[in-house]
Amino acid sequence: MGPTSALETLRKGLITPEEIRRLAEEKGYTIVAHNYQIPELQQIADYIGDSLQLARLVTTIPSQKILFLGVDFMAEMMKVLNPERKIIVPVRHSTCPMANSLEVKDVIEAKQKYNAPFVVYVNSRTEVKAYADVVCTSANAVDVVNKLDSDTVLFGPDKNLASYVAEKTGKKIIPIPGETGYCYVHNYVKEDEIRFLISKYPDAKVMVHPEVPSNIRKLADFVGSTSQMEKYPTTTDAKEFIVVTEVGMLSKLENLYPDRKFIPVSSMVCYNMKKNTLKNTYLALLEEKYEVLVDEDIARKARRAVEKMLELTR
Ligand code: SF4
Repeated sequence: MGPTSALETLRKGLITPEEIRRLAEEKGYTIVAHNYQIPELQQIADYIGDSLQLARLVTTIPSQKILFLGVDFMAEMMKVLNPERKIIVPVRHSTCPMANSLEVKDVIEAKQKYNAPFVVYVNSRTEVKAYADVVCTSANAVDVVNKLDSDTVLFGPDKNLASYVAEKTGKKIIPIPGETGYCYVHNYVKEDEIRFLISKYPDAKVMVHPEVPSNIRKLADFVGSTSQMEKYPTTTDAKEFIVVTEVGMLSKLENLYPDRKFIPVSSMVCYNMKKNTLKNTYLALLEEKYEVLVDEDIARKARRAVEKMLELTR
């Protein structure tokens, strides 16, 4: 399609999922989307998953050009693990307040004070990962911490995931930055709202993400990451599930299990994830921007912390 017809598409508002797929194929891009993207974008993606799943998956596919739909630290993680590939994102400042809550100086201070290993949640800035001993995901945080040869562990930036890890491992977990480290989508979910849904759907199983506070985790039948939530329905005959994580996850679950009912917590919306739209995704492909770049020295150090995780969880 030449520039005129692309302009026509934009002007007439003809940006359909099919048109984006056509453009991606024409330009040679593979589209990779996080579980929390809007359903229309999940529909056009070649792959959908959590951030580390996707970053690792991209290392195995032939395409050298990737359009990533998610937030900035995830796109950077993809670049860290795939330095030779071109990775573009539709929005330059689609960021994560929780990742931004932890800075390198906080890590240096905590390491000097406690002399303990630092485990960083994958939802963190790349330069912070470069100062970590090991990266973890919400799926393997407990396993990673259990495997460290230390009873005291620095953990950041999510204080709620830190408290979950402390409960499960019995180790002394020091959250950094502390009270200010949390995901607003998961931290502010109201216990009343979950209790209301439980009373409305008494047969439903409650699955919750470990980024929620402990009073919400106590209401759960299952606590797990989005990749673990994907598998949970295969382990039970339940027909209904209350899904206590970002609402975008519903679309993936509904596609996987069309015979089950998934009930969202409507207040759980990540506005940062929703900055990607059909229109800016189309423009990103058309103009092949914005390219994700990471300083090579920082990338090398961050990669080392990811490799340590892979070694511990093999
Ligand atoms: S859902 Fe939470 S952790 Fe994930 S990008 Fe949004 S604010 Fe960050």
